[in-house]
Amino acid sequence: MRIPCPYCGERDLSEFVCRGEVATRPDPTTLSAGLDALYLRDNPAGPTREHWYHAQGCRLWLVVERDTRTHAVTGARPAAEAGS
Ligand SMILES: [Zn+2]
Repeated sequence: MRIPCPYCGERDLSEFVCRGEVATRPDPTTLSAGLDALYLRDNPAGPTREHWYHAQGCRLWLVVERDTRTHAVTGARPAAEAGS
């Protein structure tokens, strides 16, 4: 699998570290919502948005759009610009 880093270009998966799917921030006033956000994952089959860190390149956090069924990457942009 290859990931198109906006700064380094298309790079091999081995240069990146995946943190997992992009999650919405939980309601800070509810303990159970915070615990759910920490420990429960949706693990969807299909298009998803994930955080990837370009550890062997520009050291930028990216939001990568990937189909979990085919591993087709349809986009990547800096997490700071993606608002997550
Ligand atoms: Zn990069």
